[in-house]
Amino acid sequence: MVEATHMMPGREEPARTHCIRCGTCCMKGGPTLHEEDVTLFQKDILKRFDVYTLRKGEVVRNIDEALIVLEREMIKIKGQGKAWTCMFYDEDEHACKIYKYRPVECRALKCWDLRGFNEVMARPHLQRSDLIKPDDGMLEIISAHEQRCAYKTLESAVKGLQGSDSDKAVEKILDLLQYDHYIRPFLAEKLRVDANAVDFVFGRPLTTTIRMFGLCVKKKGDNFVLMPLDSPSSRPEQAAIKPH
Ligand code: SF4
Repeated sequence: MVEATHMMPGREEPARTHCIRCGTCCMKGGPTLHEEDVTLFQKDILKRFDVYTLRKGEVVRNIDEALIVLEREMIKIKGQGKAWTCMFYDEDEHACKIYKYRPVECRALKCWDLRGFNEVMARPHLQRSDLIKPDDGMLEIISAHEQRCAYKTLESAVKGLQGSDSDKAVEKILDLLQYDHYIRPFLAEKLRVDANAVDFVFGRPLTTTIRMFGLCVKKKGDNFVLMPLDSPSSRPEQAAIKPH
């Protein structure tokens, strides 16, 4: 994915007092969703394949451009292909395709005055469990996946690369990445999850987010090979949670 710069236009134009429909905020990425946004799923405005999950422990950028570790999961609207631009933004029309029903963060964001946006960000975020029926078995499988592929486990293995047994650390990292990679299609089929909704159910693949640790993988046959990223500045998989 292309890394968004997330500079706030309002900071360059302090005199702005209203939206000029420049589209900058929508092109910096879709919003993260809050509890109030559950109604958008109930009304079929949003579907589970329109969003993905940022899992606990994932590294994201906050509104101040700082990298933070998520203490709780968040659900975020997908971008357009490999770009961060919100999937609902129509660049030709400079318009939101779901404007009447846009999520609460979008309603609150005024790039010239972030108070409303910050107030919304402090409210509880939507969780996967808000969108999954408690009795369909999916939550148990998500919980098992969370335990097996937790970011704290991956982080601990990455730290091991600096230790005396780096080979073992590499083995541990690759084990996690391969498990996550191969279990997704298997579980998706078992749970009858739409292929496009897999990143909602299990979060983004570890083979993608491993970049937040300055590493990447290449596939060799059925296995992966772990490598350092060429340059720390090209760590594109840190999803920005705000401005959306
Ligand atoms: S949902 Fe609409 S207003 Fe919100 S970021 Fe996407 S295009 Fe922009």
